[in-house]
Amino acid sequence: MAETKKDKILGVKGMNDILPDDAPLWELFENTVQSVLKSYGYQQIRTPIVEPTALFARGLGEVTDIVEKEMYSFTDSMNGDQLTLRPECTAGVVRSVLEHNLTYDSPKRLWYTGPMFRHERPQRGRYRQFHQVGAEAVGFAGPDIDAELIMLCQRLWDDLGLEGIRLEINSIGDAEERNRHRADLIAYFEQHRNQLDEDALRRLHSNPLRILDTKNPAMQSLVDNAPKLLDYLGEESRVHFEGVQRFLNHNNVPFKINPRLVRGMDYYNRTVFEWITDQLGAQGTVCGGGRYDPLVEIFGGKPTPAVGFAMGVERLLELMKVSTETFSRSQCDVYMVHQGEAAQMQSFVLSERIRDAGLDVVLHCAAAGGAGSFKSQMKRADASGAAFAVILGDDEIARGEATVKHLRSGDMNNNQQAVAQDKLVDFLIDQITGGDDHDHGHLHAGQIHTHH
Ligand code: ATP
Ligand code: MG
Repeated sequence: MAETKKDKILGVKGMNDILPDDAPLWELFENTVQSVLKSYGYQQIRTPIVEPTALFARGLGEVTDIVEKEMYSFTDSMNGDQLTLRPECTAGVVRSVLEHNLTYDSPKRLWYTGPMFRHERPQRGRYRQFHQVGAEAVGFAGPDIDAELIMLCQRLWDDLGLEGIRLEINSIGDAEERNRHRADLIAYFEQHRNQLDEDALRRLHSNPLRILDTKNPAMQSLVDNAPKLLDYLGEESRVHFEGVQRFLNHNNVPFKINPRLVRGMDYYNRTVFEWITDQLGAQGTVCGGGRYDPLVEIFGGKPTPAVGFAMGVERLLELMKVSTETFSRSQCDVYMVHQGEAAQMQSFVLSERIRDAGLDVVLHCAAAGGAGSFKSQMKRADASGAAFAVILGDDEIARGEATVKHLRSGDMNNNQQAVAQDKLVDFLIDQITGGDDHDHGHLHAGQIHTHH
């Protein structure tokens, strides 16, 4: 009797595989991000994906979407520790800065990238495992660094060829200013209690500022007319916010002040900002950030001002797909084709030699049906996107030669030639780098043409 076929095990809902076809886009994004951050002097920090649950509960605030309902938390079955897959990285970075006393001699400009985890309802632009790139400037107090972070984002959009991402900024003041506003806000919402939805009622006394952030259309005019935090700012907060605007204006960075902009986490103060596009439907915020001066103290450190942002990589890649013209599928310079045992042995040697010279080589290897005919190997060579096939058969081995076939040449009659094996590397280098006016139709993965 035949064995029953086993069920396939599928990936976790809302957690996506990034497949090879998308890899060039991710690489382009990551390389661009790295070089932009480096050009502003930001250093990378890598913190663990798992942190103590208390870090997020204390840092983000108990009454936030993330802590209330989105965290993947579990008990370590070995020792009973309460742990959480990081839903964001600011808390981890600040923990690490404190733990290693990184700001003991000077403020630090840091950045990170990696997966984050939130138990949300999966939909376009909203996943349970997603990726963020973020920057954190720890130990800086002035409006200058806020503006620098914003301009860094602008440069990244420009370098990625992304257009139509608009900037909204606001100041949410400091705790005292928010408390005065909060009292008036609660009174205002109490007066209109019958218009509040369930979420708003629940937050009315715990976190009324977040009601302003509601996505419920029925409550829009109510929140539009609510007391504005901007009107409650004291002298210092106002001057700070004006400073941010002055730097942005001086550098021709357009922005809109959105008095209702508040951010999801409790640790924010003063400057908050979001970058938003209309090209992605409902999930249009590609980057959010702001100042979080209280956080270091919340974590038990001495008062240290800080500001940062986090951007959603999947949403930005989605935007890049809209504006990216074509990109080469080409993966390598050379595909090595061989027929016969002696040729196969020598194809390894030649492949290594070509790689020593800095070129990329895909060596044909046997599939389930064996090495395959010459014809089927040439099909693979074509599909690989390689610029050249290097062909070794019994004849070539006997003569100490290799046949080089130009796979991207328009001239089909004159596109292959025999080359002595000891001249092969030089020949290929010459073909690929020589002839400056000639495009060999080859691009390494990651070199993608974007248009503006
Ligand atoms: P939203 O209001 O859309 O839920 P958020 O305030 O929870 O966003 P942040 O915590 O500020 O988002 O995260 C910064 C950025 O990370 C967002 O602007 C977005 O681009 C991205 N992001 C957040 N959550 C997700 C998710 N579940 N899937 C994909 N990207 C996300
Ligand atoms: Mg969210």
